[in-house]
Amino acid sequence: MEEKALSRFFNQEGAHTLAFYLEQDGYQAAGKALKEMTPEEILNEVKAANLRGRGGAGFPAGVKWGFVPKDVDKPKYLCVNADEGEPGTFKDRYLMTYAPHMLVEGIIITCFCVGINTAYIYIRGEYENIAQRLEVAIGEARSQGYLGKNIMDSGFDLEVHVHRGAGAYICGEETALLESLEGKRGNPRLKPPFPASIGLFQCPTVINNVETIANIPQIIRHGADQFCSKGLPKDGGTRLFGVSGPVNKPGIYELPVGASLKELIFTHAGGMREGKTLKAVIPGGMSAPILKADEIDIALDSGSLMEANSMLGSGAVIVIDEGTSILEVLRIVSEFYSHESCGQCTPCRVGNPWIRKTVRRIADGKGKRGDIENIRRVATNILGKTLCPLGDAAAMPILSLTEKFKEELEASLTG
Ligand code: SF4
Repeated sequence: MEEKALSRFFNQEGAHTLAFYLEQDGYQAAGKALKEMTPEEILNEVKAANLRGRGGAGFPAGVKWGFVPKDVDKPKYLCVNADEGEPGTFKDRYLMTYAPHMLVEGIIITCFCVGINTAYIYIRGEYENIAQRLEVAIGEARSQGYLGKNIMDSGFDLEVHVHRGAGAYICGEETALLESLEGKRGNPRLKPPFPASIGLFQCPTVINNVETIANIPQIIRHGADQFCSKGLPKDGGTRLFGVSGPVNKPGIYELPVGASLKELIFTHAGGMREGKTLKAVIPGGMSAPILKADEIDIALDSGSLMEANSMLGSGAVIVIDEGTSILEVLRIVSEFYSHESCGQCTPCRVGNPWIRKTVRRIADGKGKRGDIENIRRVATNILGKTLCPLGDAAAMPILSLTEKFKEELEASLTG
């Protein structure tokens, strides 16, 4: 069943305004956190909620916050990752459009918990209208004493800034995001050190996705137990799943973690459009390994998808029908990742364009025997051998497409 917690404001007129948010008990969680709770109590509540990051990696948010050193003589920062560049993903766009104050409230609680006085929302440049909406929401919150000095008479100060990216997918990777925010080229950093200890401007930094932070007010307001009751014991709450492709009702659906992928497609999204037949599903954004039609009777949680050699990623479900050529899917994947490689490490910089060149040749009708094996060999030499996760993000879908649809791809080798 659909659970409207994060999505309860979607498509409602005026939902982005402070007046609307206050009518829906907005900022009460921030008031409770700042006036009735200690930072340790907030951290324990978020840990107990088992809130996993919603951006892709799925790391527990409370554990991540706990890594930030307490007694350092440096400022600390929060960076909200609103880059949303993973193909197929459009959930954060909805959240920021309809519930910008929910995000601001989550930022306030997060920063109070970790001892942060400056937060940045790093938003992809293409979301200019949403960036403006966020700035208006921040201004409204500031004018009513929810941001700025001495928030809600608690003695806590916080400023929030919106920073626009310039449209590079790699800037969604947390350390590339930090470089970009510092005004440099968005090249990922070598880890360790991790951002929790050395992040923005060499200071301790928390980096969380928009949906992750937007979950914080309901955890504080209603408690970790209620949050956990909606999802799984080790993966609490609901998730926003974005369904795209030839289904009757593409869009965003909020379901408990662990809901069925089959039910999402055939019940909530209305099933296949115009009598089309399902061929395959990419369950977590384009970097997630593909599932064939007979593999979709599976729960939407990190553990279940990992067992099926795929991943939940950003919750972007891309539906593919029988009329779609897998060679075309492979071409789109290879074009995208070779274009978005930052070029720092050789397997990614050289391997991805090589795969792209080979796939283009096959698509031109000049494929040769051995091309599919060679593509797999190169992808295998990218997997796990690069500086940042983009290498794996490129190699994983290519390996799964060439394994699960080998016969179809080999039938395209006409040269
Ligand atoms: Fe850059 Fe690709 Fe290496 Fe990541 S894996 S650092 S994107 S070259």
